Amino acid sequence: MNKLDEILEYNKLFVENKEYEQYKATKYPGKKLVILSCMDTRLTELLPKALNLKNGDAKIVKNAGATIMHPFGSIIRSIIVAIYEFNTDEVLVIGHKNCGMSNINGEEIINKIISRGVSKETIDTINNSGINIDKWLHGFDSVEDSVKESVDLIKKHPLIPKEIKVHGLIMDPETGSLEVIIKDQ
Ligand SMILES: [Zn+2]
Repeated sequence: MNKLDEILEYNKLFVENKEYEQYKATKYPGKKLVILSCMDTRLTELLPKALNLKNGDAKIVKNAGATIMHPFGSIIRSIIVAIYEFNTDEVLVIGHKNCGMSNINGEEIINKIISRGVSKETIDTINNSGINIDKWLHGFDSVEDSVKESVDLIKKHPLIPKEIKVHGLIMDPETGSLEVIIKDQ
């Protein structure tokens, strides 16, 4: 049995037993919050619990490192949709300690990609097309700087209204404790 079969089996019972009822919510976030955070597995349940968020309270956007790679990439797009379509008015960027994206080495990942069967030529072709894979895969040296950069980028984004509050925080992935890096007054 693969993982999907196991999931589907469970899912059938979940629906049959109406376990979804406790999660009923609308698509409009009750707390008008949008959160950008990291895909780290330790935060999956811990982050909402530590922030007192229930299903329906916030839009949560996640990726590796809670980073914004491009001012017109999918993260900013999601935040813009959350603001204009779902009435959110406050943004939290939540990085965390011991993030897997800190000090990640792009070159090492490229070597792993090659060892899994992708040809060096493919890597070269992509690099020659104007995408620097090494830079693209690189994480950050300081989570604090990364959070600050993201907050700054959101705050100064030409398509984001000035009155939107944007805060930057760092979570301890063991305790859920939050450290405020930037508080938008
Ligand atoms: Zn992380």
